[in-house]
Amino acid sequence: MRGTVIGGKKICIMAGPCSVESERQLLMTAHAVAKAGASVLRGGAFKPRTSPYEFQGLGEKGLKLLAKARKETGLAIITELLSEDHVEMVADYADILQIGARNAQNFQLLIAAAKTGKPVLLKRGLSERIEEWLLAGEYILANGNPNLLFCERGIRTFETYTRNTLDLSAVPILKKESHLPVVIDPSQGAGRSDLVVAMCKGAVAMGADALLIEVHPNPAEAWSDGAQQLTLEGFAKLMEELRPFAVAAGREI
Ligand code: PEP
Ligand code: MN
Repeated sequence: MRGTVIGGKKICIMAGPCSVESERQLLMTAHAVAKAGASVLRGGAFKPRTSPYEFQGLGEKGLKLLAKARKETGLAIITELLSEDHVEMVADYADILQIGARNAQNFQLLIAAAKTGKPVLLKRGLSERIEEWLLAGEYILANGNPNLLFCERGIRTFETYTRNTLDLSAVPILKKESHLPVVIDPSQGAGRSDLVVAMCKGAVAMGADALLIEVHPNPAEAWSDGAQQLTLEGFAKLMEELRPFAVAAGREI
């Protein structure tokens, strides 16, 4: 996919803002993450917000900005497919379709995503068991699409110190139960930018094939998920810190 392999020796880094907010915000982030070594740009144009009164995403305008960022940087694009109504539109722009935690068992959406033929990143549901997650993944595979990525993004537990509880044990379990690449999202996983570096190191040690990381030029002013996004400098520093961990795990970044 645009020269990027996921599931090989190199750990694929997907980075970018939680939401696409503006051309300036997205392009600044895209250039910075590309320079630091990311190969995929993330950014939500359709956002699954808990409250209907919060920012819902720029829609197609956001997709167009992602396409512009791809043209300028060469990064591949991952963005969330929120609804069956948007399948064709989102698939026209995206290189990878992200299915969010809140749609993890929306089987009709999974089938529609599979049928586009684009790679699909399937997040784990908020309270989804691994067995249920694997079966949700089967909906993609059984509909003729072998390009499936599983993404652990934390599950809901009794713990409130973190936004979610990142289940790193999912990595070796999924590796055992499937042949597919496993992605860790430490940003939704912890909900706290100060924990992202440690979560990434743990993910690399566990054998994750890719990391999906939220990065924003000014997290304090972000329109969504401000508390968990890294700054551009923070992301560059993370990449430097991760390199020796990747080597120790027999991988590269
Ligand atoms: C996101 O990636 O910004 C997101 C909404 O993720 P999740 O579906 O894991 O909550
Ligand atoms: Mn987010």
